[in-house]
Amino acid sequence: MSKLRCSPERPLAILSFHSHTDRSFLDDRELALLSGALREDGIANDLVVAVITRDPDGDGDAGGVEAALIDTLSAYDPIVYERVWSPSLIARLRDKLPGKVFIGLRGEHVLLDSAPADIFCDGDPQRILTALVRWLRGVADVAPAETLFRHDADDGGPPRWLAPAPCAVAPPRAHRYAPNLRPVIVNPEALPSGRTFSVMGNSGCPFQLDARENPLYAGTAIPAGHGRGCAFCTTGNHYDGRPNAETAASVLEQIRYVRQHAPDLALLVLKDQNPFGYLTEVIECCEAERLTEFSLLLETRAEWFLRNAARFGRALAIARRIDVRIAPFLVGIENFSQPELDRFNKGTTVAANIEFIETLWRWKEQYGDALDLSHTAFGFILFSPWTAMTDLEANLHAIRRTGFDRLRGSVLLSRARLYPDTALYYLAERDGLLSDAFESEADDASRRYGYYPSRPWRFVHAEVAHFAALATALAERNGSRDMVNLFDALLAAFRDAGTEWRALDIDDVWRRYQTMAPGADPHSGAAALAPASEKLRERFARLVQPLSFDATFADGWRFGPISARPGHVRVELRHAVEPPLVVELVPRGQGPHFQRSRHYEIRAAAREFTAAQRAALTALSRAVTTNDR
Ligand code: SF4
Repeated sequence: MSKLRCSPERPLAILSFHSHTDRSFLDDRELALLSGALREDGIANDLVVAVITRDPDGDGDAGGVEAALIDTLSAYDPIVYERVWSPSLIARLRDKLPGKVFIGLRGEHVLLDSAPADIFCDGDPQRILTALVRWLRGVADVAPAETLFRHDADDGGPPRWLAPAPCAVAPPRAHRYAPNLRPVIVNPEALPSGRTFSVMGNSGCPFQLDARENPLYAGTAIPAGHGRGCAFCTTGNHYDGRPNAETAASVLEQIRYVRQHAPDLALLVLKDQNPFGYLTEVIECCEAERLTEFSLLLETRAEWFLRNAARFGRALAIARRIDVRIAPFLVGIENFSQPELDRFNKGTTVAANIEFIETLWRWKEQYGDALDLSHTAFGFILFSPWTAMTDLEANLHAIRRTGFDRLRGSVLLSRARLYPDTALYYLAERDGLLSDAFESEADDASRRYGYYPSRPWRFVHAEVAHFAALATALAERNGSRDMVNLFDALLAAFRDAGTEWRALDIDDVWRRYQTMAPGADPHSGAAALAPASEKLRERFARLVQPLSFDATFADGWRFGPISARPGHVRVELRHAVEPPLVVELVPRGQGPHFQRSRHYEIRAAAREFTAAQRAALTALSRAVTTNDR
């Protein structure tokens, strides 16, 4: 049996890693609940949040995050974590914190060797951790079952994970709803300004279409327990639906608690893939109880919005009265090509996707601020192993038609991530498209966004592989701006090159992109942007006071070129080390925005910001909203 032990004097740390990009959709709900439950069990602990600002496998400790984290963690033992996308980060922490016990929790995917802990907690941590900590502190004689202890091989081979013997099953425990809403944040400056917290409706997903029944999946070897729901997702493999009244009461209890104990957490994500059966009633109760001044972010399917349009409209009407905002957040559009949707086992149509987005813009016109479109992070996968040029053409056309890029960032970079607990993995396996390594780091979408490591894959069509590689390089050259026009330039270049597409390089496409008028949308009929006149520059200078064209603001940002067309002003913000940020001012009422002044919507052309870009946008928005009254 292991000799691992912890001092009872030291509190436990529950470590929560966040990606450097504020598009990390994962908040600390489960870990916050675990922290609260352990406190209720008398185990002192903190939730410790660290934002990993650079590639954790790269050189150096950019920003000193790791050093600060090590310093913080030195006061704790054991150290518990769930989500980590870099085993080397944990290895370095272990190296610098010798003698401390590291405990890994089961996350979305079970990846034992990606989480080099001493002990892996393979069941519900709210039930097991208290017993495990008691054993580690020498208070209990036997370790709990549903744990695995790491045994390193003498020959340097892979470790073995063994259950403790003897062990005892930890009994079920009931805890009240009391999440720890006050984490210790190692580098608060790197967190997005608007943090979310989740409230739970029903877990899992009621969309249970089995990929095995999809004719496209004939001959795949999907293991039992997997394969239901959308083919890239594990959520559809289970669903714990409760009666609407019960779910509504539970959601209300959570909203009440969070609003009372952490009123600064005003972005509440409702975890329920189909909340429409009770959403309107919850908003009615919020009105009755005066629970206001928060946004409720929704994760659901596009066609469920459409099917429940009347009830959703009622919820919006009440929300508008009481200063609550309802925000479509993670809505899986995924693609605008039917063959790709079918391969994703999405169970929906391109027409439904388009109808949903067009309806969303209409709702925005009708309900104004009650429908908050500033948090949209809609699901989209442009590149899968099977993507054909016709799929790309269909996607560009629909993105132009619907303005989808205003609801989802980085459309040109999004790629399928394959995991062995999803059906899409087995489709790729059947077709011989899994590979051992990504061709380049840029191809690894998991790494880019801070998700669990996924299985590398290759494209069926060499032409699309070349297209995707150029897309990544172009996006990087352009600071992730103006992706739709880049997409357009790429498609046009490939079209014109015909069978000679292999000869296309980044400079060919870049030249073509630059010949497109700045800001032009060749399909919209809108006039191209032209450099701002002196008169307009003077008006703009007054609008952004006290910020000045001649000085930096928000830690090193400057105003770059300003361009305009009727009803549209665009300014590029520049920084010595940050990628530039393009900000647009358009008349109110035209769609998603970062902030609104009396007359304008202020929005960023990119949907993803670094913390520094967000600070610049915030400073600019504050100036405009103050001056435009
Ligand atoms: S992607 Fe969304 S709709 Fe599809 S199975 Fe997952 S949670 Fe359900």
